[in-house]
Amino acid sequence: MKLLEQLVLTPGVPGREHRVRKLIQSQIKGLFDEVRTDALGSLICVRKARPKSGAGSRSKKKPQRIMLAAHMDQIGFMVRHIDDKGFLRVNAVGGFDTRNLFARLVSVCPDVNDPKKDLPGVMNPGGKPVHIASAEDRKKIPEVEDLTIDLGLPVAQVKKKVKLGDMVVLRAPFEKVGDTVVSQCMDNRIACWVAIEAVKKLAKSKHDCEVYCVFTVQEEVGLRGAGTAAYGIQPDIGIAIDTTLCCDTPGIPGELRVTEQGKGAALTIMDGASIADLDVLETFEAVAKKSKIPHQRSILPRGGTDAGTIQRAAAGARTFTLSCPTRYIHTVTEMVHKTDLNACRDLLAAYLAQA
Ligand SMILES: [Zn+2]
Repeated sequence: MKLLEQLVLTPGVPGREHRVRKLIQSQIKGLFDEVRTDALGSLICVRKARPKSGAGSRSKKKPQRIMLAAHMDQIGFMVRHIDDKGFLRVNAVGGFDTRNLFARLVSVCPDVNDPKKDLPGVMNPGGKPVHIASAEDRKKIPEVEDLTIDLGLPVAQVKKKVKLGDMVVLRAPFEKVGDTVVSQCMDNRIACWVAIEAVKKLAKSKHDCEVYCVFTVQEEVGLRGAGTAAYGIQPDIGIAIDTTLCCDTPGIPGELRVTEQGKGAALTIMDGASIADLDVLETFEAVAKKSKIPHQRSILPRGGTDAGTIQRAAAGARTFTLSCPTRYIHTVTEMVHKTDLNACRDLLAAYLAQA
């Protein structure tokens, strides 16, 4: 869990994934034969086949090229304006539910590479506090444009330290809660964790497939990095790893739950951006059954994953999304059950081992 904690506490909004990339690079030493960063910033890590049979017939065939995609970016903000009193206004990068953005601690990161320069701040919608707000005021849901960040510093200092375009992320701890882990940006650092840990597991034995493990950029603003990476790699099979809705909580009817917590890795049949290749989906399911790994089928009516752009890059690829059920998604209390997290890791490793 130490690696997962480090991953979720490292800021990286779309286009500012530098620190996450650096952290991942430090954690994968010796695991891959080749590691490179592409033009958009995705980290492409290649592990060549280690054929099982040496001179056997399978090893003479071209190995299957399998691309894994785990996006490194998290939803966040960039500084859009600094006013005369030193308050910041922000632009969202990724989709926020502003109902969750009252009274938040944030980090403003003036230097993508240097965490020591990060400034703590407080985010609130502009306007009156509850004591003096009218009944009408209290009903309003703020827009991102209404949010202000207070750094508690004189304006001259703010203008010296902060500039437009600086990354801003919500600050929230990593906590173990019951049988789950909770933090902000489980979406999608858990997938980075799953990919790293699954390849570590795979590396303990031989495998016939060639693994392109890609830590993608700018997923939250339109699946951008995965598409260009896939265009370069041209995989036979693309597997996006991501969080998915887990709405098995009070106030939501059963037919809208998408997944159930603790019931295992979610095999995504379709979402708003792609339909899983039926053969890949069924292979994942068969591997899960054979290896006795908890799993569940799921459909996400709206939203998409990197599979959407991998599927359509160049002449196309067969794709699938392996999802981890996540309660309270896109809040600072994203909750993931350990059974589901481990099932995703084990299932991915088992799938790759037989591919
Ligand atoms: Zn995601």
